[in-house]
Amino acid sequence: MSDFDSQNYYYATALPPPPHAPLAGEVRADVCIVGGGISGLSAALHLVERGFTVALLEAKHLGFGGSGRSGGQTIFGYACGQEKLQQIVGKEDARRLWDFALDGMKLLNESIARHHIECDYVAGHMHVGVKARHDAELAAEVESLHTEYGYRSVRLVGHEELRSLVASDRYTTGLYDSASGHLNPYKYTLGLGAAAARAGVRIFENSGVTKLDIAQNASSDHVAHTARGTVRARYLLIAGNALLGRLVPELARKLMAVGTYIAATEVLGEQRAAQLIANNAAVADINWVLDYFRRSADHRLLFGGRVSYSGVDPFDSARVLRGRIARVFPQLNDVKIQYAWGGFVDITPNRAPHFGRLAPNAYFLQGFSGHGMVLTGIAGQIVAEAMAGTAERFDVFARIPHRDFPGGALLRRPALVLAMLWFRLKDLL
Ligand SMILES: Cc1cc2nc3c(=O)[nH]c(=O)nc-3n(C[C@H](O)[C@H](O)[C@H](O)COP(=O)(O)OP(=O)(O)OC[C@H]3O[C@@H](n4cnc5c(N)ncnc54)[C@H](O)[C@@H]3O)c2cc1C
Repeated sequence: MSDFDSQNYYYATALPPPPHAPLAGEVRADVCIVGGGISGLSAALHLVERGFTVALLEAKHLGFGGSGRSGGQTIFGYACGQEKLQQIVGKEDARRLWDFALDGMKLLNESIARHHIECDYVAGHMHVGVKARHDAELAAEVESLHTEYGYRSVRLVGHEELRSLVASDRYTTGLYDSASGHLNPYKYTLGLGAAAARAGVRIFENSGVTKLDIAQNASSDHVAHTARGTVRARYLLIAGNALLGRLVPELARKLMAVGTYIAATEVLGEQRAAQLIANNAAVADINWVLDYFRRSADHRLLFGGRVSYSGVDPFDSARVLRGRIARVFPQLNDVKIQYAWGGFVDITPNRAPHFGRLAPNAYFLQGFSGHGMVLTGIAGQIVAEAMAGTAERFDVFARIPHRDFPGGALLRRPALVLAMLWFRLKDLL
């Protein structure tokens, strides 16, 4: 992963953030949070605003995980879709979860405004189809969002209009949402980090948790150990997500860290960038192994796609992504790729988020399944609310059933590679 870091466009172009010293010695706090991505930082901010003292431990630096690497597409709903959620949890909980996701979109906008986070937010997102079957799927989705959920900011975009918005012959029709959008995820994460630090959260970077002693009763403290210190706290939040590894085996069994890649072209200039996506929306196709792209604030094309289910990431991602860009925008054949980086997406078997408790006061948030930009923020608010004694919203998430990935530690990756080959074949049909 580290080879990719200097190639991360967001890291390379952001103002260097103030560093936070590593943990040394013993620290006491009401809450210990493991992980400095959007989930952990949002929870920290909401907890400290509720009067808790908070210590947050980050293995590398804030935004080292998906939060500082993502495509930055802020999209309504869940990775698995509402229909699948209804099958998993029933109509009533699916409706509640839908409402929480909408709360998430509202919170994202409020947080950006309230904490003055300059993260280049732009409204507008399009899901696009690449074949006739997709047209029917998108039309059905717009219909269901309108009639079942009263979600009126989406509309169907016909072929001709879509061609005038996205300068590519690849796409058939689209679902446009004026309430979804895109942002610079690293700047957003750092903005939350700065707000959390200002509000009194004690943040420790380069402080990977190597061992957790999780108290099994509500009146004892949890202890998080790092190389040079410990945090003792009554409440624990584990928000290490796809990078947590095997620190907590029962969480690892429910999650697959899937390698995925993004490239940023050289600066195209405003006019050329605007010719590619006239309405400046973020775009994602609806294939299983999808392409997603958007314009950046400094007028590049950011293009993501290509996954590595085998979990190994050292391959020439710039070359592979250049091929994918050429398939969508052949007019960019003369353009150089300036940055190409990778990250691990946090996939659960049913692609619904995985939140819960390991013990009465030990909570976790993970498994946004590549759809975490909006949900991580609200997840942080909801887990803070649960720790403060109102767990109604948290428990709707905690009720979502999750199975282990099949195959155990050794066989689950090969099993997933086979399953993904099947989904890839389906994309081609
Ligand atoms: C390439 C890529 C593109 C994506 N594109 C999109 C997109 O366009 N839209 C969207 O909605 N979602 C997208 N996602 C998914 C989204 O980025 C994630 O769902 C989201 O960022 C998860 O945030 P998080 O805070 O839960 O985890 P993370 O951001 O991964 O943060 C977890 C943090 O925990 C730290 N950590 C792990 N273990 C330990 C430990 N033992 N001790 C201390 N710290 C630890 C890590 O270093 C990391 O900083 C994308 C993800 C990737 C990788």
